[in-house]
Order: sequence, then structure tokens, then C-alpha cells
Amino acid sequence: MGRFAPSPTGELHLGSLTTAIASYCHIKSLGGTWLLRIEDTDRQRCSTKFSEQILIDLENLGLHWEGSIWYQSERTDIYNELLHDQLLPYVYGCRCSRKDLADYDIYPRFCLPDPKTAAYEAHTLSQQQKTQGLVDKKVRIQLPNQSMGFIDGIQGIQWSNPQQSLGDVVLRRADGTINYFLAASVDDGLQGITHVMRGLDILPLTTTQISIMSYLNLPTVEHWYHLPLVENHCGQKLSKQNLATPIDTLSEQKCQNLIQKALTLLKQPEVDVDKPEAMLEQAVAQWRLEPLQHQSVLGKV
Ligand code: GLU
Repeated sequence: MGRFAPSPTGELHLGSLTTAIASYCHIKSLGGTWLLRIEDTDRQRCSTKFSEQILIDLENLGLHWEGSIWYQSERTDIYNELLHDQLLPYVYGCRCSRKDLADYDIYPRFCLPDPKTAAYEAHTLSQQQKTQGLVDKKVRIQLPNQSMGFIDGIQGIQWSNPQQSLGDVVLRRADGTINYFLAASVDDGLQGITHVMRGLDILPLTTTQISIMSYLNLPTVEHWYHLPLVENHCGQKLSKQNLATPIDTLSEQKCQNLIQKALTLLKQPEVDVDKPEAMLEQAVAQWRLEPLQHQSVLGKV
């Protein structure tokens, strides 16, 4: 089971399209299912206008997903329920402001309860009282301070220590907004995702996600793949922040060109058909990961 999980903070560009096509071709080449999840918990940065456009573009390109789309903005109750049921022993409330943390890259655990207080509270407070204690605070998760490894199907063996790379990340903001780490870990587990293909920029998040998924008692992703990035002329990752040009899928010709460009960036053999669906079908049949292995940049556009 694979998935494409865009955040609708802007329209798709050649970089995100390349990720969509790679995750589609890879899972389909294994005979698997490709799901679509819209990661829109951050209401200030995401917009329905963008998620609608993403769906139109994927449809026009022949990238058809299976089943219903999961919109994370509609799943807040589920994330809170799992936070309170499964993660309570590992989380703590934090009142530190941006200013308090200005000098630190990794959260210095100012609000982590001292082990004696934590042990006392674990025995005396009810689940409801503990849950109540987290209201109006940021909720952080206490992550292991040990090196963890996983095999990345593109980048090779990876090691990182969740505590030293990202520290105790925030799962829920003080205003109740669910953060990426909680929403993505819950949904990858509940959707039964076995293969995650995404950009190399997200690789440093992976051992943190693996830890959270194991605390959640949900099945963890078995295969991770972090794709080399598409860069602009200045050597920056194509992204909405640096104003990458949105893709235009209004005509079949434009869709063909986009698929062709993405497959070339992905170093896949040429396809000799011209309808988007047929191009993708051939790309799936010819799909190979080897040309992508151990690289950090797919190309510049
Ligand atoms: N929502 C993330 C993004 O658009 C992708 C996260 C993921 O694939 O795990 O960058």
C-alpha cells in the first residue's frame, strides 16, 4: 500500500509531481494500491482551493488513486483520541514561547517533568486529569536518545538519533492544531501504508516517525524511499516557498509533456505512447529504482 500525501499550501509543481509519479509507478509496479491523503491540518497555511486543484491535476494526468481521499482536517478527533489513549505515557505539556527557545535548535526539555513527578502523576492521576493537563499547552513527545537505523530503498542504510536530530517534537499546538508528526504517523498506520516514497528533504524526520508509530502500537511502514530532489537554477529544492511554477494540466498535450519531463528526471526509459494513462501504464511496466539510488539531486529545471 503506497500513498501520495501533499499539503495543499500551494499547487503542484514539477518537484511534487515527480514524487507523485514515482510513488505511483513504484507501488503499481509491485502490484500494490496507491492512495491519496490531503495533509491539511494547518488551516492557516492550507487552502481548499489548492487541494481541489491538486485533485484536478492528478485526474488530468491519469494519476488515479484508489478508495476515498483522507482529509486530515476532518480527522482531528481521531488524532486526539489516539494521543490520549496510546501516547499519554510519552507526552508532556509545554508552555515555552518562541522567545524562550530562540537560542536552541533542539528543544532543551525545559518542561519535561522530573522523573519523580512523572512517576507520581502516572500513579495518581486519572487519564482524564492527565488529558486535561495538556489543554492550552503545546504537547511534546519524549523521544528516545538512541541511534536508530532503517533501510532506505533509494538512499541505503540510514542511522539517526531522534532526540539529537529533532528532539521532543510538538504533536499538537496550544491552539489544538495537530502537527504533521502525529497526523502522518497515525494515518500511515491506520491506512496500512507499507511503502512510503517522498522527497529527500523529509529523510531527517523518519526515525522520529518510526518512534511515534511504534508508541502508537500501529503497524509501521516497512519500506521507505527518499527521492533525490528537483532543484531550480539556484540549486534550491523546488518548493512553494521559492515560488516554483505550478504545473498546468489543462490540455492533454501539456499533461504528456509533464509526464515525459518527470520520467526523464526520474531517469526512467522513454515511453512510446502518448495518452497520459497509457504513458503511465508503460512507465509502471518499465519502472526501475536503480537509476535513482544514492543520489541527492534528480536534476535542475
Ligand atoms: N505533506 C508532505 C508534503 O507535502 C509530505 C509528507 C510525506 O509524504 O510524508 O511535503
